[in-house]
Amino acid sequence: MRTINHFIGGKEVAGTSGRTSDVFNPATGEAQAKVHLATAQEVDAAVKNAQGAFPGWANTPPLTRARIMFKFKQLAEDNADQIVAMITAEHGKVLSDARGEFTRGLEVIEFACGAPQLLKGEFCENVGTNVDSWSVRQPLGVVAGITPFNFPAMVPMWMFPTALVAGNCFILKPSERDPSVSIMVADLLKKAGLPDGVFNVVQGDKVAVDALLTHPGIEAISFVGSTPIAEYIYTTGTAHGKRVQALGGAKNHMIIMPDADMDQAADALMGAGYGSAGERCMAISVAVAVGDKVGDTIVDKLSPRVRGMKVAPGTDPEAEMGPLVTKQHYEKVKGYIDAGVKEGAKLVVDGRTLKLQGYENGYFMGGSLFDHVTPEMKIYKEEIFGPVLSVVRVPDYASAVKLINDHEYGNGTAIFTRDGDAARDFTSRIKVGMVGVNVPIPVPMAFNSFGGWKRSLFGDHHMHGMEGIRFFTKLKTITGRWPTGIRSGAEFVMPTMK
Ligand code: NAD
Repeated sequence: MRTINHFIGGKEVAGTSGRTSDVFNPATGEAQAKVHLATAQEVDAAVKNAQGAFPGWANTPPLTRARIMFKFKQLAEDNADQIVAMITAEHGKVLSDARGEFTRGLEVIEFACGAPQLLKGEFCENVGTNVDSWSVRQPLGVVAGITPFNFPAMVPMWMFPTALVAGNCFILKPSERDPSVSIMVADLLKKAGLPDGVFNVVQGDKVAVDALLTHPGIEAISFVGSTPIAEYIYTTGTAHGKRVQALGGAKNHMIIMPDADMDQAADALMGAGYGSAGERCMAISVAVAVGDKVGDTIVDKLSPRVRGMKVAPGTDPEAEMGPLVTKQHYEKVKGYIDAGVKEGAKLVVDGRTLKLQGYENGYFMGGSLFDHVTPEMKIYKEEIFGPVLSVVRVPDYASAVKLINDHEYGNGTAIFTRDGDAARDFTSRIKVGMVGVNVPIPVPMAFNSFGGWKRSLFGDHHMHGMEGIRFFTKLKTITGRWPTGIRSGAEFVMPTMK
């Protein structure tokens, strides 16, 4: 069976821990590869290697760094079919969706190609007589990215392009469930001209993560994953003196106002609720119907669409939804549907019964639709991360806003309405990081920044855009004068402007 290695110092390196994890094909249920799981010593070797590469890379002109990114983008596009197929083979999502994720990742590369402009400092002339002051942004050193299974190409690309063009060396710890893309990326970065040791991949699980979190040679950690782990990463990483941004889970609501176009709203809920089998941190998992009439209409429009959805292997060009990522995750999602039924929500469409001929061992589940879900229910409170949409009915707009603002998560949200006043009030008052108006999945572009509020993000900086540049750099402010500007004699008072 194929083994998936680490990538350290410009080449693939086999693991030495003796521990591996199976990587499955979710469409067939077959183990297709084994990924090495690193020890703390292997992490240490990667950090030391990156530390060795850091001075040269930090001193490389930003324009040279940007040119490597230009070249990487070209190579990544040339190899897009292979990368996209790799995503589908290990994650299960449909090919067109895998291509979408890859494209959104490449947009961050495009953003990072503006490095010389992005890293420009500020200069203030004559802050005092003959005294000038200027600020620069300098790299942190060796930084690490720890990423989730659901976007094996895009989420690492939220992090490393910005980190690298800012002059840092980067260690990626990808998800052990779909780790192959990381090696392909490392290989293409090397081919693009990135010096050895600047980008490394350490495969692994908690052992590798803990080694990164506590290693004195790691300056910053960028994390994306579930909320309990994000909180752990933040508290442990910051306790060890690191800068940390840790993006967590979500429960994204979409309000449907009575004046909305109901067909548009139903179409939006289909894509946002069931696309990628609901395994997106920006998936809509709660439809908030304002008024019973809206509730009845939206459920009537959704149920035939959910039943008619084409669930098939991601490689089938007709497929709208592929399998879930692992057997374990399938069981977890099924457990939530069982719990919803037990708690008294009305299961309008039951996806648990779906069987695909020829793929009986795959992790396929049909779309499920719950109506009359209430805020006390487990299926409302917790992130399911599967193809399950809950409809919550509220009497008015104010109750819809309160529902969202009271939820522990605050990643994304949307409102569907024709009323500009309601939309404006919503965007202003809602306690959520990414907000859509008639846009169900408002994922910010690469030149803006991505991040949630409340327990969807621990730390101060969002991902990519200028927030990414700030996260991966330290600000230094210099005040200087030349000998003609220096007055004679010692001064013992606090310096003030003269
Ligand atoms: P996860 O938290 O299980 O894993 C994320 C990473 O943490 C992986 O690299 C994994 O190896 C590591 N990890 C897992 N358990 C660990 C532990 N006990 N100690 C140390 N490290 C550990 O998440 P996942 O299942 O891979 O991804 C799905 C989750 O990610 C969902 O909750 C989803 O909402 C979230 N997510 C959030 C965003 C966002 O931008 N907010 C984006 C994508 C995914």
